[in-house]
Amino acid sequence: MSSGFYLLYLAASVLFILALKGLSSPETARRGNLYGICGMAIAIVTTLALPQINSYALILFGLMIGGIIGAVIARRIQMTAMPQLVAAFHSLVGLSAVLIAASALWAPESYGIGISGHLHVGRLVEMSLGAVIGAITFSGSVIAFAKLQGIMSGKPLRFRGQHIANAACGAAIFLLLLAFCASESKTIFALMTLLSFAIGFALIVPIGGADMPVVVSMLNSYSGWAASGIGFTLSNPLLIITGALVGSSGAILSYIMCKAMNRSIINVIFGGFGSESAGAGVSAGGEERPVKSGSAEDAAFILKNASSVIIVPGYGMAVAQAQHAVREMAQELEKEGISVKFAIHPVAGRMPGHMNVLLAEANVPYDSVFELEQINNAFASTDVAYVIGANDITNPAAKDNPQSPIYGMPVLDVAAARTVIFVKRSMAAGYAGIENDLFHRDNTMMLFGDAKKVTEEIVKALKH
Ligand code: NDP
Repeated sequence: MSSGFYLLYLAASVLFILALKGLSSPETARRGNLYGICGMAIAIVTTLALPQINSYALILFGLMIGGIIGAVIARRIQMTAMPQLVAAFHSLVGLSAVLIAASALWAPESYGIGISGHLHVGRLVEMSLGAVIGAITFSGSVIAFAKLQGIMSGKPLRFRGQHIANAACGAAIFLLLLAFCASESKTIFALMTLLSFAIGFALIVPIGGADMPVVVSMLNSYSGWAASGIGFTLSNPLLIITGALVGSSGAILSYIMCKAMNRSIINVIFGGFGSESAGAGVSAGGEERPVKSGSAEDAAFILKNASSVIIVPGYGMAVAQAQHAVREMAQELEKEGISVKFAIHPVAGRMPGHMNVLLAEANVPYDSVFELEQINNAFASTDVAYVIGANDITNPAAKDNPQSPIYGMPVLDVAAARTVIFVKRSMAAGYAGIENDLFHRDNTMMLFGDAKKVTEEIVKALKH
């Protein structure tokens, strides 16, 4: 490869790093996306211009099919279905790593990496890592997709001796890897890859559907490392760098999500969290507890008479696609001279930044959107907390109840506001499957209904 190619690859890598930097804040996310697109365009064109490429027909055909499928999916996908889409895409990264490793083993001459039967041990290690991690990523992502899409039950599927079986399978893969590197046997390679497909399946099946977003981010990290391993096989520096960027950013994201939920990655993988649903509205003793509920007109009256309002969006706002109605409500209140702020919990919704994206889509100004640490103390001096489709991220059990599965997770202190309006359809629990004591407090008014419909009714009432 001439130095011109290296320089272009370097430019693409720098653009990918700038893209990741840009994506870390809503203000710069658009620019970040643009950097990513430019980096990928340079990467593709440079790779296609490499002297090793001797036929374009198949490549262009593949690019066309992939491009059309990608464009159609990108236009149609709902924000709430994003986690499963990401899982589906990761499965493809994993599968390509396996296929490239296999073709490099079967026809190393075409890759210019040596002669079949006499490959350098370093090459064999790279191929094995690419194939093993790629296979685990593929089958794990397929299961994650099936659980998130509802094709498969979200319940953790467990059997006795599961961890021992997984550990034995892991040890067998390691031994096969050593044997393959020593012998270059294609049969051992195939066996090792099959076992890796099986362990990817076995590792993800026992995890509850509720924990899938963290798992998807973890699989994202795996897919990056698989791509990086294959980058060594193909002697492609850009694939090594890009794979490492995906691998490390996915690992950091999993860490951030676990930290925001106050859980460890081990707990996510072996915990079976979010699988049981406690009967909401029923106390530990089994008796019904009272709740106060009101209408959209009541809520409009309370909001209009407030001088400060904090809106707390959650997963239900995403489900109802209520972000535009919420922005309209905020504008109506601001017209009355009422201060309106938005409070974002780091794990509100079902993926990091979920709420930021929705609010940005509805043109909510960035300077009225605050992170948990910036705004939590402000609830005590706020008249109304308008909690729309959020539940766990406000649950005081995270602070008060050491037995609670969410104990230790930082929560938004909405109860400190003078009045809390909870918009949701029923008394059902949220993601963690636990009751929220706030629904029964004296300063809470439940506003039952679909988040979008109810908020639109409030806007109507505010206008009149
Ligand atoms: P929750 O899942 O706790 O609560 C959402 C609430 O929205 C439900 O109680 C539901 O109640 C209500 N809802 C659903 N649809 C509608 C609708 N159409 N209209 C009105 N309300 C609706 O969500 P939160 O955002 O509060 O918390 C996020 C949870 O997800 C946390 O437990 C977090 O740990 C977890 N999580 C988040 C990740 C992330 O990266 N963001 C990743 C992994 C997990 P009802 O059915 O009664 O309407």
